[in-house]
Amino acid sequence: MEKAISAYLRNLIGEEGLDVIERLSNDEFTDQDIVNETGAQLSTVRRTLFTLFEHGIAWYDEKRDKQSGWIIYHWHIDFDYIQHRLDADAQKLIAKLERLLYDELNNVYYTCDNNCARFVFERASEYEFMCPICNTALNYQDNAAVVAALEEKIHELKADVPAIFYPENIQVLELALAEQE
Ligand SMILES: [Zn+2]
Repeated sequence: MEKAISAYLRNLIGEEGLDVIERLSNDEFTDQDIVNETGAQLSTVRRTLFTLFEHGIAWYDEKRDKQSGWIIYHWHIDFDYIQHRLDADAQKLIAKLERLLYDELNNVYYTCDNNCARFVFERASEYEFMCPICNTALNYQDNAAVVAALEEKIHELKADVPAIFYPENIQVLELALAEQE
């Protein structure tokens, strides 16, 4: 399995779920097939499939078992769709980081010695350059390091989509996704 896809799945369904999916040799199977093939718990298999279903990555056909008359769910997983989702999420993350970078480049920031918060110039001047939290002076903050870190992160993502799953990126991504809703 491609590194980016397994990273995406690991984030979604955990190591246990990924282990189940990685050992599937078919593109159509029932939950019981998976249990037989992987030795995983039925509850783990069902949870994994349900999570994938919720994210549009897995779907199922209903077929009636000729002998028992029961409905059997035949599952499929769409790995192409995962790649599509991954690329789309990476684009959202890059867009979010570019907006943050734009803000950093177009604002002047102030902070107190206790680092309570960062204030843009307009806000700092409203507070008469005193921190509203700890009441000490607000000083100009050189944001060159923040700018450099954002530029590096954007560069990293453009070069390597799986970087989206670095823990520090996940948080920003969740923010970017939440903003769209
Ligand atoms: Zn403060």
